[in-house]
Amino acid sequence: MIYLDNAATTPLDGNVLEAMLPYMQTVYGNSQSQHAAGRNAARALLAARDDVAEVFGCSGSEVLFLSGGTEAGNFAVKGVCEAYGKGHLIISAIEHPAVYDSALAMQKRGFDVTFIQPDEFGVISPDKVEEAVRADTIFCAVMAANNETGVIQDVEKISEICTRNDIFFYSDCVQAVGAVPFPKSSSFAVSAHKFYGPKGAAAMYIKKGSKISSLISGGRQEMGLRGGTVNVASAVGLAAALKIAAAGSENAEISAVRDRFLNRVLAEIPGAELNGDRLRRVPSNANISIKGCNGDNMVFALDLKGICVSTGSACSAGAVTPSRAISVMVGEERAKSALRFSFGKYNTAEEADFAVEALKQTVAQIRGSNL
Ligand code: PLP
Repeated sequence: MIYLDNAATTPLDGNVLEAMLPYMQTVYGNSQSQHAAGRNAARALLAARDDVAEVFGCSGSEVLFLSGGTEAGNFAVKGVCEAYGKGHLIISAIEHPAVYDSALAMQKRGFDVTFIQPDEFGVISPDKVEEAVRADTIFCAVMAANNETGVIQDVEKISEICTRNDIFFYSDCVQAVGAVPFPKSSSFAVSAHKFYGPKGAAAMYIKKGSKISSLISGGRQEMGLRGGTVNVASAVGLAAALKIAAAGSENAEISAVRDRFLNRVLAEIPGAELNGDRLRRVPSNANISIKGCNGDNMVFALDLKGICVSTGSACSAGAVTPSRAISVMVGEERAKSALRFSFGKYNTAEEADFAVEALKQTVAQIRGSNL
């Protein structure tokens, strides 16, 4: 099997697993407990929080552990709305559903939402964000890198606009670790399973003094912002994985394999087009539309050839809807033929070449012709 779906999830790094194991077997206390077993767990949690804070460039008390990028996105949008009670939100139209659908839910509850459309290259213009700012704007969300196209946004600039206008800015950094500096105006989040850490583990930065309400009532864990016994092993794993990934030392190799694949596909498959800006993208991503070929059909055909990739489409109630992010960039027709190849640190040039050949065969089969 050749796994080219690293934007969906990644395998656990062996060193990360090793770092986690003691906290599942021997140091198993509840980090809130007052006895020695609890203190041992609390010490590990504190160290993990400090490690994450060092990578984030903030203080440990500004780092929250939670269950994933989905929870972080929900918390940011709904937690800020809950804290303010009313107001206007600015949301990029290419956000992950964790943020986008949370904004729609807030819209139903009476919050006004402006969705910012990207250009054809998948870029959200900071000027458009600034134009959308109103006196009652309380919240803005623009992701650092898109999960489907890998396109990197100018979140530094947008973050600065929000700071100037006293707006809570959330940046989903789930796909951006190691590729983009973290924008520290109000809040951002990372999810460990996207960078060779455990699933169900995320870390969120929330600037001290930010106005946000807790959504999960329970104990006073996580600075009172999220009730529930903390998964210490996952926090330790996230911290270990983050230190490796944030250094970005594997980026050059990953992008070399990705570029080898991408350049061959664009040169050798007529009608293949890259979705999203060629240069402003994370090292792993190649999102390609191929004229006349349905994305879902290509995923099935490639799966039969032992290659794991994905489309941007979501199946709901039996209907396949093309990717929202790609549709708003380049239209529905091209979105229907989109395929996302996402490379990772364990992929090789040979795998990239094999995938090119398999894709060429698949396209020829679908078109009923030789290329
Ligand atoms: N945000 C982005 C950009 C993502 O790519 C994903 C996962 O696909 C999420 C949020 C959700 O993260 P999680 O799987 O940790 O809930």
